[in-house]
Amino acid sequence: MRRSGTIIVRGIVQGVGFRPFVYATAESLSIRGSVTNLGSEVLIHAEGDRFDEFLDAVRRGPRLAAIDEVIVSPLSGSIPDRFIILDSKAGTLSGLIPPDVAICEACIHDINQVDGRYFNYWATSCVDCGPRYSIIRALPYDRERTTMDHFPLCSSCEEEYWNPRSRRHHAQTIACAACGPALTLMDPDGRSMPVADPIKKAAELLDMGKILAIRGIGGFHIACIESSAERLKTFLGRTGQPFAVMAKADTIEQVAMLHDEERKQLTSPARPIVILEKRDHTSHPTISNLHTLGMMLPYTGLHHLLFSHLTSPMLVMTSANVPGNPMITEIDLVMSRLRGVVDYFLTHDREIQNRCDDSVVRDGLIIRLSRGIAPKRTRIDLGKTPILAVGPELNANATIYNNGFCITSPHIGNIRNPSTVRYLEETVERLRGLTGTTPEIIACDLHPQFLSTRYARDLAEELGAALVPVQHHRAHIAAATRERCVGIAIDGVGYGDDGTVWGGEIFVGQAPDYARAGHLEQVLMPGGDAATANPERMLYGILPNPEVLDLLAGRGWNDIACSALAHQVERRFNTIPTTSTGRVLDAASALLGICSKRTYDGEPAMRLEAVAASGRPAEWELLISEENGRQVLSTSRLMEEAFLRYLPLKDESHEIQRRAVADIAASFQFNLARGIARMAVSVAGEHGIGKAALSGGVCYNHMIRSTICKELRRAGIEPVINTGYPLGDGCISYGQAIIAGSR
Ligand SMILES: [Zn+2]
Ligand SMILES: [Zn+2]
Repeated sequence: MRRSGTIIVRGIVQGVGFRPFVYATAESLSIRGSVTNLGSEVLIHAEGDRFDEFLDAVRRGPRLAAIDEVIVSPLSGSIPDRFIILDSKAGTLSGLIPPDVAICEACIHDINQVDGRYFNYWATSCVDCGPRYSIIRALPYDRERTTMDHFPLCSSCEEEYWNPRSRRHHAQTIACAACGPALTLMDPDGRSMPVADPIKKAAELLDMGKILAIRGIGGFHIACIESSAERLKTFLGRTGQPFAVMAKADTIEQVAMLHDEERKQLTSPARPIVILEKRDHTSHPTISNLHTLGMMLPYTGLHHLLFSHLTSPMLVMTSANVPGNPMITEIDLVMSRLRGVVDYFLTHDREIQNRCDDSVVRDGLIIRLSRGIAPKRTRIDLGKTPILAVGPELNANATIYNNGFCITSPHIGNIRNPSTVRYLEETVERLRGLTGTTPEIIACDLHPQFLSTRYARDLAEELGAALVPVQHHRAHIAAATRERCVGIAIDGVGYGDDGTVWGGEIFVGQAPDYARAGHLEQVLMPGGDAATANPERMLYGILPNPEVLDLLAGRGWNDIACSALAHQVERRFNTIPTTSTGRVLDAASALLGICSKRTYDGEPAMRLEAVAASGRPAEWELLISEENGRQVLSTSRLMEEAFLRYLPLKDESHEIQRRAVADIAASFQFNLARGIARMAVSVAGEHGIGKAALSGGVCYNHMIRSTICKELRRAGIEPVINTGYPLGDGCISYGQAIIAGSR
């Protein structure tokens, strides 16, 4: 039995109340000694009869901690006669930055406590909850290195901060109405309104149907009630795109189906937006025209107070940004960019250091890696050389590898304009600063013209680092598993080895070497990006026959447009060959009359899935051939099957048509998935491999993913999905880092 020791705890031990936890534990077990924050680790000197019990508790840690390692060595030197918390020291930085945490139950209780000093205070938090990453300027995590340093503690907060028995002992975000950040309500001209309770007034305005910009933890939201959703969509020019909503638990329960997994995610400390299946698929059409609805619970004191005053059961809460640009964090910008869209502004005076959108999850899978989850930290051994990976072009984020950990930034967005490039640069600078990393390898996409590739090239030159271009779909597979596997990468677009657009790929191998062993049939995208925006063009690219032109003519295409399209495909003028899975789904959506114009990323395929949800899938014949030693699934054959079933429907009644279209949509997805799985099974058999990794945005499609997994299992192959990262392009920077680090 030991009586003393020096303990080093490594992991996420800052911003999670580790020191107060250690202090309280030491007190209760009569342990003497000290605890210090060293930047990325906590150092404890401890002595007492119950040392072993103390050590056990330290190994468990407080609720939000993620402990990687606990090292115990003999105690050296003298020890104080009680237990004390020492000031932080810079120590070694390994970038263990905690994400933001939703307000805890105890703090919710505090803001509702009429005679308490936190009553009605919007920014109430404690060691267990509140903003972290969004306010951090540098590590170690102490108030003077956060944007809370503008708010000196009042005497009551000061007292609580130093009180070892308080939940806010050493809580860096401690604040109250007397000393902390304050709210202001502003009218459309930006004049602050003299109201006693800005939140109560904001709730009244929302209930009246007004649209408000609300400054939150990581940026501005635009909020309104359901009956104003249509008006907001028109203002934003996003007529088809579903909005996310915030609601209390009982409302969510009424609107959507909740399984244990979804309940767990909704109430997790990250409080993400969870994509839920509507109880009635046709309900709330102005918020979402899909069979699903993105819902989240209130996650700050402000939200809880807002809902305590609000009569309406749910609020549309969408990130305030100009399409294609990052979420807005500054009041000046929100006023200039959203003038005419937003009626009022509810803002506060705490600076947002690091922007952070809401995270989005579905079926236990991450769609958007952001608030509450990112910075995402993964322990992984990629050697000694520090790596920076700048991600793909769309839905990008950045990853830094240093000293046994990958740290992935929150969602950045589509790197297609100067403002998102700047956001990428800022994020990389911030992560480098927080982790103390100078990358010696910089990984980027294979596409030479992407703005992120150019940025990577310039930075590599500046730092004298090696530039490693990584093919998009191989990064997907590396992010899923480092083991030897068959890789199934199915998504919208990625630049291939041969300069064509890939997106329905079967690989075999292990990072960094994956051989392309199969793919979807190469079809044409007439007009390139025009075929993405207009999936009817894509339909003709896959099925270039006169019957399809007749169908398009019947839908309003004039003769000139039809013959131009036919000539374009015939002469292969401005047509890009592609094996994209997303484009095939888009074309099926267009064929079935579900979506012929794409107004937001992924719309045709998502609406196809929504229609397919009520259909019954039937098995169709699959055509798989071999070209240049690779498996190739014929997608034109599948499209033809769908076309032949769709054509006779035009004379049927509306209801028969509706049901038949749902069945064809379901069958199309089902057979596409079967075909992809069959190629993977064949490749696995040939190479004697028992694992298949799945990645790519198409894997969010429930039927496609579950069909592939079922077919794989039936063939004795274990499907592997990394639930810690997005299946979409939010995993690419992580995968790029792995491939670059495995070379
Ligand atoms: Zn709390
Ligand atoms: Zn105070």
